[in-house]
Amino acid sequence: MKKVNSTRTPIYRDSGFWLRDIPTMKKAFSDELEHPNEPDLYIYSRYRNPTVVETEKELAKIEGCQWALLTQSGLAAIDVALSIFQVAGLKNKWLFFTEIYGGTNSFIDKVLVARRGFEIVRFSSQGNSYSLDEFERLMQRHKPTVVYLESISNPMLIVADVPEIIKISHRFGARVIVDNTFATPHIFRPLDFGADLVIHSATKYLAGHGNLSAGVICGNDSDMLKHAIEYRKLVGHMLSPDDAYRLNDYLKTFHLRIAQHFNNAKAVAEFLASHSSVEKVLYPSLPNHPTAKIASKLFSNGFGGIVTFDINGNSFQQKQARCNAFIKNVSQSINLVPTLGDADTILMPIEPVWGDKFPFPGMVRLSIGIEPVQSLIQILDEGLKKI
Ligand code: PLP
Repeated sequence: MKKVNSTRTPIYRDSGFWLRDIPTMKKAFSDELEHPNEPDLYIYSRYRNPTVVETEKELAKIEGCQWALLTQSGLAAIDVALSIFQVAGLKNKWLFFTEIYGGTNSFIDKVLVARRGFEIVRFSSQGNSYSLDEFERLMQRHKPTVVYLESISNPMLIVADVPEIIKISHRFGARVIVDNTFATPHIFRPLDFGADLVIHSATKYLAGHGNLSAGVICGNDSDMLKHAIEYRKLVGHMLSPDDAYRLNDYLKTFHLRIAQHFNNAKAVAEFLASHSSVEKVLYPSLPNHPTAKIASKLFSNGFGGIVTFDINGNSFQQKQARCNAFIKNVSQSINLVPTLGDADTILMPIEPVWGDKFPFPGMVRLSIGIEPVQSLIQILDEGLKKI
């Protein structure tokens, strides 16, 4: 076919790629991991795919790192990032922060512990912040070889002092994996502070339109890259070329979208903080958040797109009823959708989802969209006034 004068990488839907003859085929297989960033010859789309590689290059630019690998979901990225450090027979422990995505906690309990037999150490927050002294004590006591955390936790928006946690972990010889989904590389890049791997649920802000599932693992170490490519291939966690193409398009507006999400969220948080129907707002830039100082030390370009707030009331039942009424009042404009990072503002009630972990019946998590902020504030104001 004639070469086409297009600036785009097409969607290569090939399952397998044409290898001219036996020597070419042998070279393709033997070189497979020699050119891990971009293979000379593609073999099979579950291994590597040119459309996926183009999007990976864009993601590596955004995250400011040597390489990025796409997977078909955020959880698949978490599986790859963790599994490359698993060695049969080694009885070492891994340490997980407790304040992480519920699906990741279930993966730890139901896969790592129940099926793979791992011994896990948990590190919990106290009063919506992390004690570095307590973290260091746990590292000293258990000597875990992997530490896993989220830079901004969900739904209490605790900001971890990631550079300090990395320093302590490395002193004990542990690898550090940071889930940076909530912060995004727009405001914070953990690899700049020595994180070993960063993962994202690209389903959220990187894709940003609520219509694509993807994950990404980002790093600088070439050995880890080889292990990650091999593991992704062997368990079939590859992203499809069609989804990679769409994600590449969405990345073109990444910084624009995130600036709008995060500016909107800050304005909404400040508005809610002074509202008479609101007891408390959790947002990393607000001085009442226990990790506000860490947030202003780490983040240069905003404080995230999630706002968690608590509607006031005199009892559990009253708060619950007021929360239900608010959600009903705004339901024409703000949908209850169990995800985040979409272009539209969406919400999740905290107590019905997290149960005993966060028994706050008046609490709502807003994932702020990119709508004009004044109309959003008006919707929230009317929704609260009509309770
Ligand atoms: N990490 C975080 C912080 C998340 O919120 C999620 C999903 O909500 C995941 C990882 C998992 O991502 P996915 O749903 O794309 O598998």
